[in-house]
Amino acid sequence: MSEKKDGLTRRDFLKTVGLGGLAASGMDSARAITAGAQSADRTAPMPRRKLGRTGIEMSILTLGGMFDTVNNQLLIRQAVNWGVNCFDTAEAYGNGLSEEGFGRFFAKNPDARKEIIVITKLKASTPEHLSEGIDKCLKRLNTDYVDLFFIHGVGDLKEIDSPMRDWAARTKASGKIKFFGYSCHSNMEECLLASAKADWVDVAMFAYNFRLMHTPKMKDAVNACGDAGVGLMAMKTQGGGPVKAESEAEAALIGKLMERGFNDKQAKLKAVWENQKIASICSQMPNLYILSANVAAAKDLTRLSGSELRHLENFAGQTRTSYCAGCGNICAEAVGGIIPVNDVLRCLMYYREYGEKDLARELFASFPGEVRDRLCNTDYTTAERVCPQGLKITSLMKDASRLLG
Ligand code: SF4
Repeated sequence: MSEKKDGLTRRDFLKTVGLGGLAASGMDSARAITAGAQSADRTAPMPRRKLGRTGIEMSILTLGGMFDTVNNQLLIRQAVNWGVNCFDTAEAYGNGLSEEGFGRFFAKNPDARKEIIVITKLKASTPEHLSEGIDKCLKRLNTDYVDLFFIHGVGDLKEIDSPMRDWAARTKASGKIKFFGYSCHSNMEECLLASAKADWVDVAMFAYNFRLMHTPKMKDAVNACGDAGVGLMAMKTQGGGPVKAESEAEAALIGKLMERGFNDKQAKLKAVWENQKIASICSQMPNLYILSANVAAAKDLTRLSGSELRHLENFAGQTRTSYCAGCGNICAEAVGGIIPVNDVLRCLMYYREYGEKDLARELFASFPGEVRDRLCNTDYTTAERVCPQGLKITSLMKDASRLLG
């Protein structure tokens, strides 16, 4: 382990974000992170990586915009001051309000626009709707182009049909978007493998974390994209909720990380950054506590040891029944395509693990009435049998209906 790298020593890091130690001394996590924010070395450079063949140099941490950006302008400013050079938003976040918040930031800080990589997303649609949509996005963002434009929430690359691809080529030529790609929470491996053979995919943002990274299929998919020059961004990197020390496995993991001065959330980020093919992690950082802790983790160059990575992997195995791995094709097929089990479980994760109750209910409400009506009356026996994570799908669907309906 390096003691002095990039102007930030391991001691500085422990002083800055030694949350494990602080928590152990009786401070609650919010106060602990405040202490980190107060003493963070703001002069240390933020590491950057190249985003595939786009050639864009991006900070390894991207500011996810699924929060009230309109009323958190200082937080956006602080992220930029600390070296974050990429904002991620979407029309769907707050019905355009997230884009508007970033647009306000650019209106007040016009010089910042050319320094920042802006990502926005629209749902798959006709070229006419996409054209109308991108103009509205640009207006809200107060800019005349976005660096990366993604089709939002793809579960199969075939959803991006050839009219959409032609639209992307035309819109790139017009200068409104520089690069084209998609975001993906479901069937990530299949989408990535297909992307490696699709020269029209510049960038993929996909669910990737310490639970998902170990399978041969995921490794092959990430490597194939890396070799083909597809830029890769990771999201959902926490792999569910925080480690709560409620089980022996969780307590052992926390103890192990505390010894090294990490908290579990920082360790999970570091596990993803271990893969150099991942250019950046898109993280929702709705307050200074989280931003500060994540920035400090990004700037500290201490790497997780092989044994810590194995500990995380073991923990993932021991707690796998608490996490939906996004392999939606498997359970969707098992229920005859009636219920998008994977998408329902994502709503439940937002509700329970992230505490994003309004967002979870909003997403759940966007499912067709038939899906919500049949949620508790569908036979999930086969789906439970084939689910590689061993999830109790019947019970989880009942929870979703009760909490989100
Ligand atoms: S419920 Fe099981 S099969 Fe379905 S997406 Fe989640 S992990 Fe995969």
